[in-house]
Amino acid sequence: MTVTTITIDRTPGSRSIDYLPDFCLRCCPAGHFADRQDRLAALTEPTSITWYGGEHVTCRYRCDRCGLRWTRPDLWDATSAGFDPKHRNAA
Ligand SMILES: [Zn+2]
Repeated sequence: MTVTTITIDRTPGSRSIDYLPDFCLRCCPAGHFADRQDRLAALTEPTSITWYGGEHVTCRYRCDRCGLRWTRPDLWDATSAGFDPKHRNAA
């Protein structure tokens, strides 16, 4: 069985805060417990999403404010990212 790896690279111009966002831990250490204003300011969209065919996608982020880079291998599931784990062979 072949494991299909799909990587989506995203340009800054196509980013909005609606798609698989995460908080920059340097700009917003309190995460979900921070004030709404702080959370929104620290909210970052992934620069790339990689799907290895499992339940989760690996999202890579880079904060626009402080430049921090981080990776979240299990924050978002494949369905949220627009992949269909049950029909992974379609592509
Ligand atoms: Zn930051």
